[in-house]
Amino acid sequence: MPLLDVSVRVRPALAGFEPYDPAFSPCEVNLSANENTHSLPAEVTEALREAMVTTPLNRYPDPLANELRDELAAWHGVARNAVMVGNGGDELLFNLLFSFGGPGRSLAVCPPCFEEYKNFAKMCETEVVEVWRCEDDYSIDADALIEAARGAAMVMITSPNNPTGDLVDPVLVRRLLDETDALVLLDEAYVEFAPEGASLVPWVAANPRLMILRTLSKAFALAGLRCGYLIAAPEVIDVLAAIRQIYSEDVLAQSVAMAAVRAREALRPVVSDIVAERARLSAKLSELPGVTQWPSEANFLLVRVPDAATVRARLRDEFSVLVRDFSYAPGLSDCLRISVGTHEENDRLLAALAAILK
Ligand code: PMP
Repeated sequence: MPLLDVSVRVRPALAGFEPYDPAFSPCEVNLSANENTHSLPAEVTEALREAMVTTPLNRYPDPLANELRDELAAWHGVARNAVMVGNGGDELLFNLLFSFGGPGRSLAVCPPCFEEYKNFAKMCETEVVEVWRCEDDYSIDADALIEAARGAAMVMITSPNNPTGDLVDPVLVRRLLDETDALVLLDEAYVEFAPEGASLVPWVAANPRLMILRTLSKAFALAGLRCGYLIAAPEVIDVLAAIRQIYSEDVLAQSVAMAAVRAREALRPVVSDIVAERARLSAKLSELPGVTQWPSEANFLLVRVPDAATVRARLRDEFSVLVRDFSYAPGLSDCLRISVGTHEENDRLLAALAAILK
């Protein structure tokens, strides 16, 4: 008998959750979490360092991070009241379900996709309706999603999708807005790695039910900082502003994010290099025996290899290369997700995979 049996005390909707496990092991090459592993231009690192060392820590943050909202708003051509900042995109996803989900409401998702949508929905007592992607090319059955969305409070779709790498067809987003009454969250965490014009941020002004999630964790190389943002109708932003943890975006995150967003032009070559490396990695992977892969517009590739769990363990234990194993997940049997690293990191991975798969 435990000293304290919390199972009878914990809120029933929260029973059974486990702490998040990123399945991290220390490795020389870590390509497991879709981080940006490139070194940044000196002017950017200098601007970030300056922001860190000059920010006083004795005062509370601006709860709404208004200076940062203004910078993001100017970048995206919207007003401050169409932007909300969060402690990573994760906080905003949770707050969306906290605000617009709840008992008697449902969330429609298209798995395999980012698993936190479902976890946060369950925590917020929101039913999850899953419209599974097609097993071979991971395309979405548009009619099935529209049908599910007709009864849902919200739809969450990912573009490019994690872990399958594909962009959502804008025609599907148009249909969701025209043919259903659901709030539509388009998660563009990886959109900076997709071709110019892939983002649907310009649609928000004319479509008040469309909400776009972005993050500084990927292209901006700030996964450790915890800063994401949502672009949405002012009415949605007002709700999020009212229910958020008041100081969740700390002063360092606000000032460093501000410096990074201001330096966004200088980061372009880094993103271009990752995109070029993605093409090179993909071409080299296609020369290896037994590898199936899917086209990706993000900073990772989904590959299927024989006995993926063993391949992942051997990469880690014999070659000190860490990738993400999805072989346990429905629809992703024998699949590994490989983040695109630097030229050298990708070469290490390719050599290791060649040795394992030969
Ligand atoms: N959306 C997707 C699709 C993601 O893959 C991630 C991170 N892995 C997030 C949102 C959240 O990112 P963050 O909280 O670091 O901003």
